[in-house]
Amino acid sequence: MPKISSFLSVFYPENCKSCGDILVRGESLVCLHCELNFGKNIQPNGNCSEIEQLFWGKAEIESAVAIFQFLKKENLQGLIHEFKYKGNVGLALKMGGIVGHNYEFKSDDIDLISFVPMHPRKEKTRGYNQAEKLAEGFSKVTGIKVASILFRVENTTTQTKKDVFDRFENMQNKFEVNHSMVGIRHILLIDDVVTTGATLTACAKKINEKGVKVSLVCLAYRGLGI
Ligand SMILES: [Zn+2]
Repeated sequence: MPKISSFLSVFYPENCKSCGDILVRGESLVCLHCELNFGKNIQPNGNCSEIEQLFWGKAEIESAVAIFQFLKKENLQGLIHEFKYKGNVGLALKMGGIVGHNYEFKSDDIDLISFVPMHPRKEKTRGYNQAEKLAEGFSKVTGIKVASILFRVENTTTQTKKDVFDRFENMQNKFEVNHSMVGIRHILLIDDVVTTGATLTACAKKINEKGVKVSLVCLAYRGLGI
């Protein structure tokens, strides 16, 4: 018996969340054309990426890459908004999978994937942590286990009105590691959009303190000038 979802799709065809075209069999949420045509960043081979420079002198990061360019006119911004603020958990999982498919591993010793934790109150309101869902999607296509390894010590005030220095100051000591690091050499942190890197720096430092290496991958990098 065909699944109800495929039965319904005859009457209510699903549209691509990015371009709006009707999805064909085998596609879900985002059509293949969009998936292949998001503006991909070239992942540097050996040279430091622009995003790695955000962390110089602040945290020890093995490698940091953004898979896609964050351009306001592009649909990627709309997709991020949809899974971040509109409750589309499936889209976060899907985009995590796309990140996983496009990520070029720089080393073969990554033991775990993890993510920046949300404040519990905020997570309760939203119903999920979108970075955790990205991590789960990434895990599904790469086979690397996801673990929640950090927690927030206290709520932080809103980031948007603070300058870059304040952001870093504000973030220090807002996180702690609450997961055993026994046998863990290298953790890959995943996030949706990186701007200043302040939050990821604070998380990476806490992991570094446990003697564990950190790499970063994000869906998109949005420099302050964008
Ligand atoms: Zn599309």
